[in-house]
Amino acid sequence: MDRITVSGVTLEIERGDIAAQDDIQAVVNAANAQLKTGGGVAGAIHRAAGPGLTEETRPLAPISPGEAVITGGHNLPNEYVIHCLGPVYGRDKPEDELLANCYKNALKRAEEEDVESIAFPAISTGAFGYPTEAAARVALSTIQEEAEHLESVNTIRFVLFGEDDYNIHQKVMEEIFE
Ligand code: ADP
Repeated sequence: MDRITVSGVTLEIERGDIAAQDDIQAVVNAANAQLKTGGGVAGAIHRAAGPGLTEETRPLAPISPGEAVITGGHNLPNEYVIHCLGPVYGRDKPEDELLANCYKNALKRAEEEDVESIAFPAISTGAFGYPTEAAARVALSTIQEEAEHLESVNTIRFVLFGEDDYNIHQKVMEEIFE
């Protein structure tokens, strides 16, 4: 199972590059506190968006774990980028609550701009060290809770880079939504 509808919202799980989602209105950046380029998702997004994104994010930084801010997409194929700072696993606590806040706040920013489609990477599971399966449970159960309150958002996509990450998300989606 890689696609399901919950409370009228389509939830999709795909393998791919978060910086190459050309049919999605807002992509989520697994940002750093300074909202600068870096490795992983932040590097891919800033490279594809170009220097205009860094200029726009500079006055918005720093942000705290769980927070989300929205900017334009610049040279990305998306209208918006929503920058979320995930918790560093083992340092920022309670990590499950902070990670859930990322997803809630990203959806809040999206709804404020009447965004219909949004794509998330697996926030905190790279450099920030959050175990993928535990992070997937937090992410997907938060979306399950939020789905019924969404008005503009009708498509939520998880974009996973690696095959293992994709398989884990698929398994957790089946557990939560079966
Ligand atoms: P964090 O600092 O929040 O842990 P990372 O960017 O280091 O964020 O990694 C988050 C997840 O995104 C990891 O699972 C990583 O493998 C994955 N990832 C890295 N680059 C991309 C990309 N271009 N598109 C989608 N996922 C990516």
